Amino acid sequence: MVLKEFLKPLEMEYIEIPKLDNGQLLVKIEAAGVCGSDVHMWKGEDPRTPLPIILGHEGVGRIVEINGTKETVYGETLKEGDLIIWNRGVTCGQCYACKILREPSLCKDRRTYGINISSKDAPYLNGCYSEYLVLDNRTDIFKVETEIDPAILVSASCSGATIAHAFDMMDGILGQTVVVQGPGPLGVYSVAFAKYLGANEIIVIGGSQDRLELCKELGATTILNRHDTNQEERREIVFNKTKGLGADLVIEAVGSQGVVEEGIKLLRSGGEYYSTGFAQPAGLENIDFFKEIVSKNIKVQGVWVSDTKHTQMAIDIVNKNKEGFGKLISHKFSLDQANEAIKVMNNKEALKAVLIP
Ligand SMILES: [Zn+2]
Ligand SMILES: [Zn+2]
Repeated sequence: MVLKEFLKPLEMEYIEIPKLDNGQLLVKIEAAGVCGSDVHMWKGEDPRTPLPIILGHEGVGRIVEINGTKETVYGETLKEGDLIIWNRGVTCGQCYACKILREPSLCKDRRTYGINISSKDAPYLNGCYSEYLVLDNRTDIFKVETEIDPAILVSASCSGATIAHAFDMMDGILGQTVVVQGPGPLGVYSVAFAKYLGANEIIVIGGSQDRLELCKELGATTILNRHDTNQEERREIVFNKTKGLGADLVIEAVGSQGVVEEGIKLLRSGGEYYSTGFAQPAGLENIDFFKEIVSKNIKVQGVWVSDTKHTQMAIDIVNKNKEGFGKLISHKFSLDQANEAIKVMNNKEALKAVLIP
């Protein structure tokens, strides 16, 4: 399913499976996640989007063919028929970010399936809204060996990994009060990681009661519906729960204007703010920098995409709670219904949609 023009329906196109180059893998997609970023890309709001493009950066699939040999990140030899999930980004290993900073998520040549590789560039099958995907030989791959529905696991490769990246940068969660802004897939993963790592209180703010209830099932101790409370009331609740101090950590998982302005004010002095929701430009935040950040020693941390370690962390957390993450999947569609999937993600009817080609 190819995006040829922004805001226009994706078009079914037949693309011949190319002859594989050395080291490439051909994968038959078993589940393709429809990410919130896909909706932004479809609208033309993500500056990384080349046209035409096969969207879909979250995939689980079965190996059909390997040209040469390829191993998993654990050094296991991969073979035809193996069910796999992979790091959605392929990095160069040579640039300043890769070599010196050792932060591959900042690689200047990072290529992401379904995000910044056009379907007019070889090997053409570069996104997961497709029956088949060709993986670059530098792709970091994990075998799926547990009994799990690929549709449940698929979001580990984007939302899950991004949140794992945020938690990887934190000093510690044990005993902390964590506020999560946004109960979508990023928020659900935030709750799951916070719970697993021993947070004391997990407070989730959101506008959808169903999503908030799911967060509660996964470990949220308090859920605050934006439609039943105003900003001042929410702040009061957070401060009341923390003996007037404020939250130790706030995780932003929304990505729209105004969210940081509210979230920063929920922190205690010396608290930490992690912003994970902005995958595309969303305008300016109105923050009194002296009052809210400098005079309180607040740490503000941006979280951009993820690395292979974070994919692994996300796979592990899903496997620990398959049932809970199963409830994240609100809609399943066939590949030719991809436009319907974009629609239900865009109008927020779906918490998470998955395409099953
Ligand atoms: Zn995504
Ligand atoms: Zn690089």
